[in-house]
Amino acid sequence: MLIGVPKEIKNHEYRVGMTPESVSEAIHHGHSVIIERSAGLGIGASDEHYQNAGAEIVDTADDVFDRAEMIVKVKEPQASERARLREGQLLFTYLHLAPDPSQTKDLIDSGATCIAYETITDPHGTLPLLKPMSQVAGRMSIQAGATALEKSHQGKGLLLGGVPGVTPANVVILGGGVVGFNAAQMAVGLQANVTIIDKNPAVLESLSHYFGSKAKTLYSTQSALHEAVLAADLIIGAVLIPGAAAPKLISQAMVQTMEAGTVLVDVAIDQGGCFETSKATTHADPTYVVDEVVHYCVANMPGGVAKTSTYALNNATLPFILKLANHGWKKACQQDSHLLNGLNVWQGKITNQPVAESLGYAF
Ligand code: NAD
Repeated sequence: MLIGVPKEIKNHEYRVGMTPESVSEAIHHGHSVIIERSAGLGIGASDEHYQNAGAEIVDTADDVFDRAEMIVKVKEPQASERARLREGQLLFTYLHLAPDPSQTKDLIDSGATCIAYETITDPHGTLPLLKPMSQVAGRMSIQAGATALEKSHQGKGLLLGGVPGVTPANVVILGGGVVGFNAAQMAVGLQANVTIIDKNPAVLESLSHYFGSKAKTLYSTQSALHEAVLAADLIIGAVLIPGAAAPKLISQAMVQTMEAGTVLVDVAIDQGGCFETSKATTHADPTYVVDEVVHYCVANMPGGVAKTSTYALNNATLPFILKLANHGWKKACQQDSHLLNGLNVWQGKITNQPVAESLGYAF
């Protein structure tokens, strides 16, 4: 199959659909790859790297979209990219169609077959192509929080792990799923005092089993939240109710009771945020202060570490890219019901029930 990788054009998007290593795997399996000139510069991969991996470099996005049988991207196609898609072409990328009726209409009109990373499932009932970005964001949340705790960033002036003879900072993590677990790993590694709060007893059990005495686990109740929040120096918001807006676990009144310089990192901001005082920020200006409490609410945290994120994403997408290229999408989806769950648009129709229902389309 001829696989095409255009340069990402969404504002401040530095990731790329395929790394040189993924290109060389695809070529090893007998496929061809064309990639737009400079597409990998944001992750430090030059055109020469891609040529050495066996890709053909083309000058424009038109060249990629005109020739490729399958387009592999990162972000949802922008309007100019949607206009280039053609009937029967396969698109494999994040789509997030539910809140995006204009993209949905364009994809339906294009006649392309669109498989979304975010609705592919796995046998454990989780979303394997979302997981790597949650791992990245969870780990970054502690770096971001540690920086914000510095005095020059209006934090308390605390080092997360303290030093011998000085107590470490208290880190409270709300939600112990993928983001929360990865945040806890980093915070424990830095020798902070770590508390993880979740409402799912099975999650608490597995966290307790993993961390032992290195992290405290608490069942999520109002009183547990109040007590933990009052003692916290850094709070990570990492809750998710699938398909719904994040629950507001911390009210402005609770923020007002926190010590000056406390730091809130709201990773769940992409679902509206779990602190009442949260509003989305960008990597260019990541923090703001409310009632002397520092807020970090970057909605696309993985974009800040484009190279790590691209490699993490490719580790998850490559097996599916190869299946799609080796067998063609129809046979690949017949053989793998989890990949079939990723099919969002086919022959001018929405083929994913929750996506169709959320947009008011017949299914
Ligand atoms: P997940 O499903 O793995 O974990 C969420 C956890 O929240 C679950 O364990 C659940 O039991 C818990 N939870 C739900 N309601 C709760 C409550 N009231 N009290 C305590 N715990 C509660 O999800 P995840 O992959 O860890 O993602 C977490 C959030 O981070 C999502 O909103 C996701 O979209 C977001 N995210 C943001 C970025 C970013 O760049 N900002 C990047 C990746 C993920």
